[in-house]
Amino acid sequence: MANICPRCGGPVKRGYNKTAWRVGGLVALLFIAAFGSFQCEKCGKISQSEFPPDVKHRNNIMSVLMIIGAIALIVLVIYIFSL
Ligand SMILES: [Zn+2]
Repeated sequence: MANICPRCGGPVKRGYNKTAWRVGGLVALLFIAAFGSFQCEKCGKISQSEFPPDVKHRNNIMSVLMIIGAIALIVLVIYIFSL
């Protein structure tokens, strides 16, 4: 999902935290991606409120999907280890 920067029109991506990736792995990364802010290569950090309402709505749906994905992953891991 490519988002457009509301300031310069360039591409933005969700901010990832390399430390969290090492500590918590994929699940932590999913949670950070869901709750984290967006980064523009030129403008830096973009807050959710700067996006137009329809984009914000889509981002919220993506966040919810990522949370569900993270929870599903946790449940799957617990299930595999309890076999
Ligand atoms: Zn920008």
